[in-house]
Amino acid sequence: MQIKVSDNIGFCFGVKHAVELSEEALSKKNGKIYSMGPIIHNPQVVKELSDKGLTPVEDIDGIKEGTVVVSSHGAGAKLKKKKGIKLIDATCPFVKKIQERVDRLYKDGYSVIIIGKKAHPEVKALTDFTDGRAIVVKDAGEARELELNGSKVGIVSQSTYSQDTFLEIVSILLNMPFSEIRVFNTICRDTIKRQGSVRILARDVDMMIVVGGKNSSNTRRLVEVCKDENRDVYHIENEEEIDRSWFSGKESVGIASGTSTPGWVVQDIIDQIGRYN
Ligand code: SF4
Repeated sequence: MQIKVSDNIGFCFGVKHAVELSEEALSKKNGKIYSMGPIIHNPQVVKELSDKGLTPVEDIDGIKEGTVVVSSHGAGAKLKKKKGIKLIDATCPFVKKIQERVDRLYKDGYSVIIIGKKAHPEVKALTDFTDGRAIVVKDAGEARELELNGSKVGIVSQSTYSQDTFLEIVSILLNMPFSEIRVFNTICRDTIKRQGSVRILARDVDMMIVVGGKNSSNTRRLVEVCKDENRDVYHIENEEEIDRSWFSGKESVGIASGTSTPGWVVQDIIDQIGRYN
């Protein structure tokens, strides 16, 4: 069986940066070290860092001293310096740019619309820059139900959202009677590239395996893209989830991974499938 691997495997720039900053903080062994939520959305990496002493917390209210690493998804505008706590900001620079964009739009009097998932930490943090007033729209159905006539509106996207869904929602909003509408495509380049190369690969193989955290938004997007093109798509986190029967009668398998999946996890999966040949 032929194994075809998608382009852009391994950590994206922002995830690599967050993991490196965490490793560096841990190596200094300077008191307790926390992360705001999981540092990235990958269970193997979170466990590895947790074994070394990085403890995920939901907020810093209960922490009196130590170091807190802000995850690649960023934190809200209200996260302020606190006595006894050293903050290390591992927010991805691309996410930081979206935060600055949202902050500016809100301060300039625009109603901010964020295309994304309300519960995602990046979107929650972005909403915080508008005192909780931003409207989060996840799909075309929600976009059609919006009632914001007359307002001036600024639109951004969650950095890892589906490019297709973003464009569909924007085309609906452009037809609404806002007095002014500003659109910023803030989906990061790595996400767009991965979605594009995964779509091409999924068309070309008998089945697809997408590797990444089940809680990883960008990995789930890749699964959706694959499902548009291929009937046999599996989302797994590690090689233990592979079932040999999936490959029965198949001549080719495509492998893709999310931006927070380490390269070694993908390699373990490639090696495991290779042993079936
Ligand atoms: S997916 Fe893009 S925005 Fe998210 S951490 Fe990676 S580079 Fe940054």
